[in-house]
This record gives sequence, structure tokens and C-alpha cells, in this order.
Amino acid sequence: MTTTERLFVLPTAGDRLGRYTVERVEDLPEMQGKLILLRHELGARHAHVARDDDNLAFGVTFPTVPKDSTGVAHILEHVVLMGSEKYPVSDPFFAMIPRSLNTFMNAMTASDWTTYPFSTRNEKDFYNLLGVYLDATFFPLLRYESFRQDGHRFEFEKPDDPGTPLKLQGVVYNEMKGAMASPGAVMWRAFGQALYPDLTYAHNSGGSPSEIPNLTYEGLRAFHAAHYHPSNAFFYTYGNLDLRRVLDEIETHVMSRFGPQTLDVSIPDQPPFEAPRRVEVTYPGTDVERGGQVSVAWKLGHITDPDQNLRWSVLSDVLLGNPAAPLIRPLIESGLGSALADLSGYRDSFREGAFAAGLKGLSAGKADEVEALVLDTLRAIVRDGIDPELIESSLHQFEISQREVSNSGYPYGLQVMFRLLGPWLYGGDPVSGLRLDAELNRLREDLKAGQVFEPMIQRELLDNPHRVTLVLAPDPELAARTEQAERELIERLSADFTDEDRARIVQESLRLQALQTQENDPAVLPTLTLADVPPTVPRVPYTTEEAGRARIGRVPQPTGGLTYLDVQVRLPEVPEDLLDTLPLYAYAVTRSGAAGQDYLAIARRIEAVTGGVSASVGVGGRPDDLDTLRLTLTFSGKALARNGEALVGVLRDLIQAPEFTRERLEQLLKQRLAGLKASVVNAGNAYAERLAAAQVSPAGWVEEHFSGLTALDHLRRIVEGDELDELLARFQRVRDLLLQGQPLLCLTATEEDLKLDLTPITRAFSGDAPVGHPHPGTLAGGPQARLTDSPVAFHAVAYRTVPYTHPDSPALLVLSRLLRSEYLLKEIREKGGAYGGGAAFDARAGVFSLSSYRDPHIARTYEVFRAARQFLDTPLTERELTEAILAASKTLDPLTSPDTAGRLRFYGDQAGYTPEVQEAYKARLLKVTLDDLKRVTDTWLTPERAGYALVAGRDPNPETDALGLHFEVQTI
Ligand SMILES: [Zn+2]
Repeated sequence: MTTTERLFVLPTAGDRLGRYTVERVEDLPEMQGKLILLRHELGARHAHVARDDDNLAFGVTFPTVPKDSTGVAHILEHVVLMGSEKYPVSDPFFAMIPRSLNTFMNAMTASDWTTYPFSTRNEKDFYNLLGVYLDATFFPLLRYESFRQDGHRFEFEKPDDPGTPLKLQGVVYNEMKGAMASPGAVMWRAFGQALYPDLTYAHNSGGSPSEIPNLTYEGLRAFHAAHYHPSNAFFYTYGNLDLRRVLDEIETHVMSRFGPQTLDVSIPDQPPFEAPRRVEVTYPGTDVERGGQVSVAWKLGHITDPDQNLRWSVLSDVLLGNPAAPLIRPLIESGLGSALADLSGYRDSFREGAFAAGLKGLSAGKADEVEALVLDTLRAIVRDGIDPELIESSLHQFEISQREVSNSGYPYGLQVMFRLLGPWLYGGDPVSGLRLDAELNRLREDLKAGQVFEPMIQRELLDNPHRVTLVLAPDPELAARTEQAERELIERLSADFTDEDRARIVQESLRLQALQTQENDPAVLPTLTLADVPPTVPRVPYTTEEAGRARIGRVPQPTGGLTYLDVQVRLPEVPEDLLDTLPLYAYAVTRSGAAGQDYLAIARRIEAVTGGVSASVGVGGRPDDLDTLRLTLTFSGKALARNGEALVGVLRDLIQAPEFTRERLEQLLKQRLAGLKASVVNAGNAYAERLAAAQVSPAGWVEEHFSGLTALDHLRRIVEGDELDELLARFQRVRDLLLQGQPLLCLTATEEDLKLDLTPITRAFSGDAPVGHPHPGTLAGGPQARLTDSPVAFHAVAYRTVPYTHPDSPALLVLSRLLRSEYLLKEIREKGGAYGGGAAFDARAGVFSLSSYRDPHIARTYEVFRAARQFLDTPLTERELTEAILAASKTLDPLTSPDTAGRLRFYGDQAGYTPEVQEAYKARLLKVTLDDLKRVTDTWLTPERAGYALVAGRDPNPETDALGLHFEVQTI
């Protein structure tokens, strides 16, 4: 989203702004911005990216270079967020979330730095959050109790009974115990340790559970004093901001209270290896058949060298970028493992870079074979040379990644921060993180003159003795040994405890408990009010035209030279037996062949001319009616504007002439089945919510067939029952149906690129079948339980309520926010011990739902759900209501970027969710009262409107029958 209301006058190089000096001003033509680099007298650096974007961003980053594995940097990150001088509440970040319209808030610890970023579209909010962030990082209270709560502490099993066994506790201590059980995290730690054994990367910056207890409270405070000082701070601001005002705030709140200091956080070079090494590590796991990984890794040059960064980014994509790439294909086709090893590719998150490639899904004893395969393949690539077309494709992917302005993943302003930090924190040129045109030109010249990448592979990989073959294996006994080691550690540390020591532990535990239950007053924190919520919604301009049956929207946006095209097809009447086929078709169609080319040729073509294509199925209705539905199949793609026609050609071929083979389809469906099965235990709540919604809502019932457990069940029957031939026949019918549908095309590009000819696509739709409306069915059979291998449960209740334009809809949205933050979090998470509990309202489908995540309880949770109405009778304050309305308004104003703003508006308008309809909704939302919340609960959240579902490890009926809930039980 952009605004041109105000543009601030920018300083020039050499200007003095208070105690800051402007060191450089650089143009960033590709992102239509300017970079201003400043330095404060105390040594603080500041980078400001001035850009016409109203999503303002901030970050303060400190190089934190640990000298041991006590997790000091990570524990400090936690404790910093537990109260500060001006804001002495227990959790100011968490308390700010509902008082703000932020679009991002977080803090992160990497292996050698710690950062605190946020973003928001509201200027007042920006300065509110800036104050909270500055106070938290520079003036945290660092209370002893906070250190004990989040770092480590001794506690008796019964905290007030010194006769019970001693335990080690602590949020980070437990977090790292959990993290070090995951193969990905073990691999990551081992990678740094193996390649840079003499540097800070040899330590676990998150903390090794066996070493965390060595961290002292004094050590934590000293680490803060040394590292969180202006001389070691890198500030970042972004957007349409008044830089002078920001610098004034930082001067007044922070700089004026510090004196000079010097601290050496530089990281030296890792001394090179004389010969390759092998390192073996284990993680607690039992899958000895498929749980292993082998990765071959090399140390490369400094990541502050922009030529190296560019060349390795491109080469990494050449070698591993798509299923047909020359290093990935022999690895996968060898059949040794199932996928690339974690961390494969170019890694620029250490001061000296790295490249790695290998396989996972291995049984034991495969290290020699994988190592030989990687090295032999690289030798063959050097010998045979790399196809110049592959290099061209990868350069083109790199260009797209540099130009694209998108909020997917992180908000764009923070993506820019992370790109800039890479070289900046190691003393390199921050501009090189944002702009590589000189390096790109040099590379293109070198490529014209002869081979570039083959000699790089020879010199930097094959002839480089600084190589490690990293072998990761599951160890079924490791968990038991780790527990034993923890018991021994506790015994050793507590061997000399006197009765006095034990009494002190009890006392400290009780003090911590008292502190945790103490209500603290968030009123000291700044807050937004309802007057700060913009009453309007953005009216993103676009034009429309008709082309036969097709309607086309063209949206001018500052896309950085990218073109985005969506083809949403409203389907005719879909025969019931094809409903389950649609999602499989959408999954397979962009991963198969088309128009005479096999899937490898299509994959290469997609890589060469687009930035990716995808297809998806959807169900939508009208704003005033929950039962009139429409099914859609949408094809989407993006490309550099110069490849616009080629993108149209790719989408036309996928829509009009897809070609499926039995072999490829079998491969794809097996991959998808494995992915979906693995997702059930992680996203059990989403599956339970869909299954509950299917009982009360026709749209929910369709969603269940598209992406619920019903879809999983259907896929399994096809794969295990070998019904591929039948499926191929149904695919043919889907394609015919699709071409009978009504297409809505949306093209987003810069003004000059909007004239793209779309007739190759619109001509493909020649039929005249009316748009179909599937029967508004719902899932019969009462409460549904699905059993799987899980020690915890996922619960959901869904209620059928009202359509979008009904006056009660906004109150239901506010109710969902209020219940989530004020009721379910306390009852289900804090008291019930579940990992999470939530309430949600899907305003377009009219479905209100309550759910729990990784929940140890069954019957208790349904009692909590039922008691929600009583909670509304407890004394609730205006502040709680205001915060719930602010949170609800955030869902009405999602953060958009040039790639999404226009299509949301175009497709919204086409479906009847016009700006006027949305603004009427907002106006009602801002006036919701506590009485409204009680009334809509009594009217709409009634037992006869409810559907129940759960995903769990055990039959719920013995526990729930007493509540009058009897589940139909099936095993997944
Ligand atoms: Zn943490």
C-alpha cells in the first residue's frame, strides 16, 4: 500500500542532524527508494530506507557473539522483554499487541546477533512502539525473578516441599530441550560447529541444556551492559517517515543517557582445514530406516564480498533450483534418500559463507555413498559444462527476487532490513545487500568471455580441503541418556546444598509464583483508541473489460517491474463425484506436462520465464446468503514484465492442454499423501475446525472435501487402492468442465506493462454453461472424532451464524477476539495446560468456532467452551472491549503489497464485497457494545447450531457421554 500524502525532505551526505552525521545517501532505483546511512557520536549506526510505503518499519540489532553455550544471548532476548524502566509490566510486548495496529512484532536471536523489529501502518502506533522497543532494549529491568523464570532455576517437584525431588526449570531451558530433539535444529548447530570450530559458531547461541545452568545472573547483566550499548547498535527505519523526528526520539530516550564505550565483537577468519573432515551427530529418534541425513559442506569466502554473494546465489540455484537441476536430479534419482538434506544450498548467515548438498531420508551407513555421489556429480558438471540456458534461468530467478515488492513472509520493509543487515553487521557495505547491478553487469561480462561457474566449482568446492561431511543419525537411546545426564547434573550441582539452600529454593519459588499471578497494570503502556482505526477501506484503482465470457481487471501498481496474472474460473455445475477430484487436479496440473512437453520440460520452462505458477480451488458465496455457493479453480503466476507473453503462454497451456501420465501422477500423489499425513499431528486443530464446520455450513462441507480429513481419506483410497486410471479419467472431465466455466482475469503490473494481450487465455473458454451452485449439504452423523497417534487432543466446536451483511456479524467478530484473549487463553492454556486455545469467526462463511491445540484434556475443554457465556457475565471493562475491537479491525485491514492489493479489491468487488459493503461492516464494528456480545451469543451460539469435532489419540466417549456428547469415532 502506498500513499503520496506527505514526502519528507531528505538530508544529504555530510549533513549534521544533532549528534548524527549523514555518511552516505544512495539511490535504490529498483525499489524506488533512497538509503540514508548515519552515524552517531557514540558509534551507533542508523540506516533509513525512505520509500513511499505506509507500512513503517523499525529494528534495532546488536551483534551478540557468545563465547560459550550457556544461551546467554537467547536468555537475554527473553528477559529484555519482561519489563523495563518506563514500562515495568511483566510482558510489555504481549500487552502491546492488542493496544496497537502493528503488522509485525517480534524479537530473534541468530548465531551472532539479536534483533528487535516491528512494523505498523499507523504513525502514532509507530512512535508508541518505538518508545516501548527503545525502553525494553536499552533499559530493561532484568529482574532476578525474570532470569529465573525464563533462564534456569532449581525447583522442587512440589515447589513448597523440599522433601520432593529437585528439578531444573526455565522457559529457555525447556525450549532448548525441545529444540535439540528436532533433527533440523541439531543439524543447524552441528553445521556451524563443524565448519567453523574455532569461532563463536562452535557454540550453541540458543543454549545447550547441559550448559544453560552455568549462566549466572551477573553474567547475564554484564552481557547486556556490554552488548546493548549505542556503540554496538544498528538501528533501522523504513517507510514514509520523518527521519529527524525518529532520530530526536532515539537521542532523547537513549543516546543522552550513555557515555562512550568500546567493545570488540569482531569475528576472525576460521583457520583453513588441511584435509576434509567427517563429523557425526545424533538426535533422539527411532526411525533408523529413514531418519538419517548426510550433507557435504564447504567453507567459502566472506559474505561481505558482493561478487561472491551474487555468484554463489546464482550457482546454488543452477545446481539445486528445480527438480531438473543438474546436482539435485542425480541425488534424487539415486534412490538413496527421499529429499535434499537440510541446509542444502548457499548459506550466507555466517561471516564466511558456506555451500552444502546432501540427502535425507537415509538409513545408517550411507555417508560414503552420498559423499561420493555429490563429488562425482560435481566433477561431471565441471567436465561436461553447464547448459547456458540453466544459468540464464537462474539469473532470471535472482532478478525476480531482487525486484519483487511483496509482504509474503515478512513485511517488505523488514525483508529489506534483513538483506541489508547481512553484509552490514560484518563491516561490509549495506548497499550491496540491496543493489547488485554493478556486480550483475560484471558477471554478465565474465559469462560472455568464458566459463565462470565451472571453475568456481573446481576451485571453491572440489579443490577446497575445508570440507566437512556431516552425518546425522537417529539414536533411539539418546533421550534416555539425556535424561540420565540431567539427573546426574542436578545431583552434582546440588551435592553440597545445605538446609538453608533448600529453604531458599522454596522461598524463591514461592516469590516467583506470587509474581506470576500478580495482576499488572498495562495502563502505563501507550495505546491506540478506536478513533485511530481508519473508517474507510482502500479503493485500489483498476479498469475492467469484457472479452467474450471473460471479465478482465487491469490493476496499475508499483510492482518493481513484475507482472502478476490470476485466472479465476467460476465452474459450471460440478457433478458430486468430481468434488473430491478438484483439489488433486489443482495440485497436479502445475507439476505435470502440457502441450506436448513432459513435466521436466514444463518445470524448466516455468523456471526460465516465470517466477512461479500455482493452482488452487476455492468456494465462495454472497455477502447476504450463506447457502448460494460457487466453486472456483484459480491459476496464478508471476513474471518479469518482459516475459509477460511467455507467462500467458504457460498459463494457457496448463489450462487448455494439460497432460498427465500415470507414473508422474503416482509420484505426486504419494508426495502429497505423505505431506498431508504429517500435517495432521501439527495442524490437528485446523482439521478439527473444518470437520466441525462441515456439520453446520455448506461452505465448510465443501472445504472439508477440498482440504479436510475427508480429502485425506479420499487421497489415501486412490493411492492405496490403486485407482489412478479412474482418477485420470476424472481429470479429463475436470479439464472439460473448466473450459466451460466463466473466467475472471486479474492482471497487476506497472502502468506501462498493463496492455498485455490476454486473448490466448480468454479464447480457450468457449462454452456457455451457467455458473453452478453446489447443493448446500452438510455432514450428517453428529459429533465426529478421528483417532490418530497423538498423546494430545485437538478440539473444535463450530456454529452456523449469519452472513456478512447481517447486523450481528461484526459483534461475532469482536466476540471471537475477546474470548480468545481474555477467556480461552487463561482457561485452556494457562489453567488447562494446552499449548493453545482459540476462537475464530469466518465472517464470509458465517462460521464461529472455538478450538484447542495440543490439549491434554477432552471433557474439560468442552465444559470450558460451554461456559463461555458465563464468562461474559463477569465484570468486563471498556478497555477489554476496545482491545477486542482493535484486534477485530486488524482482520478487516490486512497488510497488502503491490502484488496483492489490486487482486483483493478486484475479486472482492466481483463477489460483492465492495468498499461500501466493507465500510458499512466497519462502521458497525466500531460501535459494538458488551450487551451486543451477550445478545449474539444467546441468539447464535446455541446447541442446535453447533457441530463438534476432535482429533485425538483416544476414544472420547467414556469421558464426554456425561456431557451429553456422543462422538462417531473413526480411525485416520
Ligand atoms: Zn526463545
